[in-house]
This record gives sequence, C-alpha cells and structure tokens, in this order.
Amino acid sequence: MNKKIKRREFLGTVAAGALLGANATGKDINNAGSTPQREVRLEYFRPKELKEAQTKCPTIFQPLGTIEWHGVHNCVGVDSLKAHALCVRAAQKGGGLVSPTLYGGVGGVDQPHTFVMDEENNVFSKLLRPWLEQLCREMVRDGFRAIIILTGHYGAAQQIVVRETAVRMSRALGIPVLGTPEYILALDVDYTGDHAAWGETSLMMHLYPDTVDLSRLGDPPHQGVGGRDPKTEASAEDGRLLTETIVSRLAILAQKMPTWNYKTLDRFIDSEATLVAKQLSAPRGKKNVWTAWRNIGSALRNYGKYLAEENFEQIKSSVGGL
Ligand SMILES: [Zn+2]
Repeated sequence: MNKKIKRREFLGTVAAGALLGANATGKDINNAGSTPQREVRLEYFRPKELKEAQTKCPTIFQPLGTIEWHGVHNCVGVDSLKAHALCVRAAQKGGGLVSPTLYGGVGGVDQPHTFVMDEENNVFSKLLRPWLEQLCREMVRDGFRAIIILTGHYGAAQQIVVRETAVRMSRALGIPVLGTPEYILALDVDYTGDHAAWGETSLMMHLYPDTVDLSRLGDPPHQGVGGRDPKTEASAEDGRLLTETIVSRLAILAQKMPTWNYKTLDRFIDSEATLVAKQLSAPRGKKNVWTAWRNIGSALRNYGKYLAEENFEQIKSSVGGL
C-alpha cells in the first residue's frame, strides 16, 4: 500500500492511486495521474454515501471475467481486470457504482491456469446464469434501477448466456439490464474481440501497463493467443482508443438507462432479444456456436453508437446481416 495514503479519507474526492486502487507496486492502476477521481467501487461505500450515490445515479455495473491463460505476456486475470477498469472509468464519467468483479463463467481456453466453471460452448449454463439472475434481483431489491453487466470474457456461449439473462431480467424486473462483452461496443474502431492478441493486450497496456511484458513472446504462433500478433501490433495507444470508445458509450448508458420509460425499455428489450435470439438459433442446435459471429464486424459495426443513441430499431435491423 502506498505510504501517501496511510490516512485514508473515505469517499469524497481523493487523490488517484489512493482509494481508486494502487496495485502491488503502489502505482496508480487507473492511469489518472494526479487528477482527483470519484470513488465508485461499491464495496468501499458506507450506507449514507451509498444512498446518496444511488439517488444521484441508480445504475450499477457488474464486471465479469475469469481466471484464464492469456499468453505468456499477460496475467491470467485479463478478462476480469479489464472489465473492472472499464466499468470504473465509465461510472466515474457517467455515473453509477461498480460491483466487485465476478470471477468465473462459461468456458475458457485449453491451457494451464484456466478455471472453467461452465463448459465451453455450453449455452445451458448451470452456474453463471442463476448467479447473475440472483445478483440482478438483489441489485433491484437494494434500490438500483439500471444494470450493466460487462463481460471481459467472451466465448460465444458466455456472450449468449450473459445477454439472454439480461434480456430476461429486463423483462422480469421492469428495469433495463444490459449484458454485453466490451468489444461489441468498439466494433466501429475495428475491435471484433480476440484472445490475448492485439485488442486485449492493447487494452491491458493502457489500463494496467505493469502487467504486460511483450518481451516474453517469441515468434508466432503464440501459445493460447488468438488474433492479430500482440508482439508486433499491440500498443498502449491503441488500448487508449479502445478504452475511450467503450467507456464513452457505457458512460452515456449509465446516465440514461435509469431514466428510460417503459416504452424505451420495451424498444431496448426488443432489439437485444432479437440479437441474442439470432446468436442462439443460428447454429440450429448443430453447427458451430460461433455461426452468428461471422459478419459481426460489418453487420453490427455501429452497435455501440446506436445503443448509446437509443437507436434500437437500427440494431434490430442490423441483426439480419449476422
Ligand atoms: Zn480474454
């Protein structure tokens, strides 16, 4: 722990690197330099301040990730750390609070140091789905009025389970619940999701620079890495662009989702349900679970933009191109 923050001021405005989380080396993990930042991590709130924060913006983020091999150059917590940092930044920018990251989900690569809680490609999740449902119910019972579940771990089945659960909980609870991987908010800056490759590594180089060591990589193919070569292509600058794109959209959503009326909620549910129905049904129970992802970079290119603009009808019609 950083010496500068021995006498910790609870909540309010604190120096970055203090409550926002210093990592093991004492360095600021939010890259915020000396800019004061608001505490948004739920677990650090006392009841009075929590109530005040909820009154101001009753949105809660739920980051999802897992423990999974991400190449010899990345730490095994990439998915979880990445999702959490993006949620924290979005909440600071747009409003809302961030629930502690849930580690564990559907699938994982066939490599060491990987925890698989529901088997890969299994859309019939036994663990993640009920856990998410109960989390959503508890969040609503506690006074939150919009939920953003952001998964940094994204096999096809994980994505389907998260989005489908969000759609059903939106219907059942009468509040907007968005369940999405972060990359789909950045398709228009050419990130279509990868595994420990250019995209994820760039994000980590920006969000947690101390955790990435590209010099550990030899020549491609790199073990357990899928996508553009991180060794030659990943950069903190690309990570910054991806982060800004994703965070700006999440921040708008965090601010606006709790204000949606039922008409807007129904339009949102309709487009999200259409998307996940396509993802779930395209393999017809037999083909590759990734069948509806083949054209995602072009068909859903503007998903993030449309979502932030509440242009749900455009999303719905884009789904036909998947
Ligand atoms: Zn990952």
